[in-house]
Amino acid sequence: MSQFWSPLVSTLSPYVPGEQPKIAKLIKLNTNENPYGPSPRAITAMQAQLGDSLRLYPNAESSTVRQAVAAMHGVSEANVFVGNGSDEVLAHAFAALLKHPRPLYFPDISYSFYPVYCGLFDIAFKQVPLDEGFGIRLADYDEGAGAIIFPNPNAPTGRALPLAEIEALLQARSDVPVIVDEAYVDFGAESAIPLVVRYPNLLVVQTLSKSRSLAGLRVGFAVGDVALIEALTRVKDSFNSYPLDRIAQAGAVAALEDREWFEQTRQRIIASREALVVRMQALGFEVLPSAANFVFARHPQHDAAQLAAKLRERAILVRHFRSPRIDQFLRITIGDEAQCEALLQALAALT
Ligand code: PMP
Repeated sequence: MSQFWSPLVSTLSPYVPGEQPKIAKLIKLNTNENPYGPSPRAITAMQAQLGDSLRLYPNAESSTVRQAVAAMHGVSEANVFVGNGSDEVLAHAFAALLKHPRPLYFPDISYSFYPVYCGLFDIAFKQVPLDEGFGIRLADYDEGAGAIIFPNPNAPTGRALPLAEIEALLQARSDVPVIVDEAYVDFGAESAIPLVVRYPNLLVVQTLSKSRSLAGLRVGFAVGDVALIEALTRVKDSFNSYPLDRIAQAGAVAALEDREWFEQTRQRIIASREALVVRMQALGFEVLPSAANFVFARHPQHDAAQLAAKLRERAILVRHFRSPRIDQFLRITIGDEAQCEALLQALAALT
């Protein structure tokens, strides 16, 4: 703290990201990265940028990336916004769309970045409890809300909502902006993007970090009504920012266009998840139904913090959250087949 700080800064409690360990040998199942590499076509496209063209500024509108997203989803470029990871897209969305006299509603167990953005942009919020089974109950997102955001599938629970329930919310709350954060949608949930043409209050945010294995490149996007995209663009342009550099623009387009690599790798992750769930259940774990590239699980006889520590001693990193109600759970990213096997061997020895 310093006398030179703006008063707001002393009230902020910044986001604490999952550990990025220095030791390469660790089996890293703590931050939901994709165990398979990005599309080889994306790597080639990025390598082609490593030359004289880096003298030049990138396209400020990221037009080719927006066109690729638009083509995939049957919308127009004007319906698409891109940013430096979906975290940046969300930051612009919080600033542009979510501050109203009534509070922003989001689930009480959810992406822990949301309260951080609320602090940063001075947004009043209400955290709405999950139901008994750790599901989001959209009926609770009532007239008290000035805006709504939730991940689908939710993080860190992995539970997904059916599209019909999301559509019912959009109809019931057509007076407020609703953001669906679909970071993990490709691993088993239904995207709400087809609804944007009918619901001008809906913004859907996705990322290339998970199902396209480009967490290190930092590319995310939002799809919504032109007026919502314009609001985000105004905020972005106020920062005079080029969200995507030339390498990221080239890599993102190629990754989006390589449907085959996308399908193969995501199906492999889904198959590994299903196999992992069955074997963890056989070890006595209670595993929440997951539509994501991670599972959220607890063991009735073993303390989660201790299990995480013992796994770490065996060079396996998983995520443990200290928050009440979920402090007995572990969130475990789906690794490749060998990593899943190593995890199961370690869990079998520890339980
Ligand atoms: N939303 C959710 C729910 C997430 O879990 C994450 C990843 N931590 C993000 C958004 C942000 O991902 P990225 O910035 O890599 O796109």
